[in-house]
Amino acid sequence: MFLTISTFGTPERPATDLGFLLHKHPEKAQTFSTSYGTAHVLYPEADTERCTAALLLEVDTVALVRRGKGKGRGGAPDAALAQYVNDRPYAASSLLAVALSGVFSSAMRGVCNARPELPAAPRPLRIEVPALPARGGPGLVRRLFEPLGWTVTAEPVPLDTEFPEWGDSRYVRLELESTGRTLAEALRHLYVLLPVLDDAKHYWVSSEEVDKLLRAGEGWLAGHPEQKLITSRYLSRRWSLTRQAAERLELVRLAETDDSEIEEIDNAVEAETGTEERPTPLAEQRREAITAALKASGAARVLDLGCGQGQLTQALLKDPAFTEIVGLDVSVRALTIASRRLRLDRMGERQAARVKLLQGSLAYTDRRLKGYDAAVLSEVIEHLDLPRLPALEYAVFGSARPRTVLVTTPNVEYNVRWESLPTGHVRHGDHRFEWTRAEFRAWAGAVAERHGYEVDFVPVGPDDPEVGPPTQMAVFMMRNPKEAKAA
Ligand code: SAH
Repeated sequence: MFLTISTFGTPERPATDLGFLLHKHPEKAQTFSTSYGTAHVLYPEADTERCTAALLLEVDTVALVRRGKGKGRGGAPDAALAQYVNDRPYAASSLLAVALSGVFSSAMRGVCNARPELPAAPRPLRIEVPALPARGGPGLVRRLFEPLGWTVTAEPVPLDTEFPEWGDSRYVRLELESTGRTLAEALRHLYVLLPVLDDAKHYWVSSEEVDKLLRAGEGWLAGHPEQKLITSRYLSRRWSLTRQAAERLELVRLAETDDSEIEEIDNAVEAETGTEERPTPLAEQRREAITAALKASGAARVLDLGCGQGQLTQALLKDPAFTEIVGLDVSVRALTIASRRLRLDRMGERQAARVKLLQGSLAYTDRRLKGYDAAVLSEVIEHLDLPRLPALEYAVFGSARPRTVLVTTPNVEYNVRWESLPTGHVRHGDHRFEWTRAEFRAWAGAVAERHGYEVDFVPVGPDDPEVGPPTQMAVFMMRNPKEAKAA
């Protein structure tokens, strides 16, 4: 299995920068052992104008089969002999994708400590895969790569050059060219699309694969015209996983349109409440109210569900009373911003041990969320369609079951106090609903009842005698916390 990546350069931007980007020195041939065999990285050419890195994977067929057996769940459902005699060692496939992510993991994430400015810059790239198994042929290869800005050459490889009448094999020779992509993007495209074209995963596909797919698909998968085919094949047509991925991608798409608006709202609120002294922005007042309620509850390990860009997580980290803070969001983009805000990559070990960011959807139960003292849902519920709210309710109050849950949401009655908000409008393009105080109390009361919690309500922001506060907060406390410990 073989793949080459070339780039072209000038004296100002030498092609040999590829060595920095890949974290592999052009003058050394390097070898890495993977669970399926040995990966070699070498540079057939490396000068200012042109630099090519080659990834060669020698697959150990026996190890591959043993590994599958050892885990009690084989890869492809092959007959005994076919397990050993197949095309895996020769063809680019899911094995090559796994090797790519192993050998070039920093490059795939767009990280380059030596030259931090390099990864973000697009550069001329050419990628060649001489034998790519492609179910769907050259046509599908083009449909997958062209929308991502690649110029695609995909030629079918004949079964046997001496007997052209035998027709084509299921392989194509692939060449991709682009000047507008970064190396990290290119690697992520290959990581997802090579196995999609191969359409035969060498390992059991579990729900973790959804996370991997969404991570690698960040920024390009949610709008791809072949998104359905890509997710379905990537997840080996496991229907439940495919559906989960589709829903999460839809949420990513929606969430990606609204992050910028959140800041705008906060700024607008700030501008409107303008008096001589700079007032505390509503978002900050919310964080203060949440922090106070958390401290009153005695919580030390806290979930920030729908953490968005991580402002609350950041505020909580400053307080040593909170020993562990987990931010979860469905939007990869929001999480990327959050991790930058928190400077996760530069954090000391002790601090880093206190905080974690997770990608996930609150519409699904999630084992990672069990066992915490408290969960905060700050301005999150109104981003879900009403029919999905019971799923969130169950995931938080039924499954994760922290002792304390704080939920904040806009109070729609207050909207009349905002001059810039046209009557009847919600505060935010992505709000699916905004509730009156009575509606919120009715919902929260019913939730508490169904799951064994007591609930209290706290106003956040100026509590207007007529229309109430701009933000309403419900504080849920579990009635019988012993039960939570036992669970
Ligand atoms: N808690 C933050 C962000 C609120 S914006 C704050 O108070 O500022 C709402 C956030 O909820 C967005 O970041 C959005 O991506 C996230 N979100 C929406 N639906 C979600 C879901 N089903 N699962 C997890 N997060 C979701």
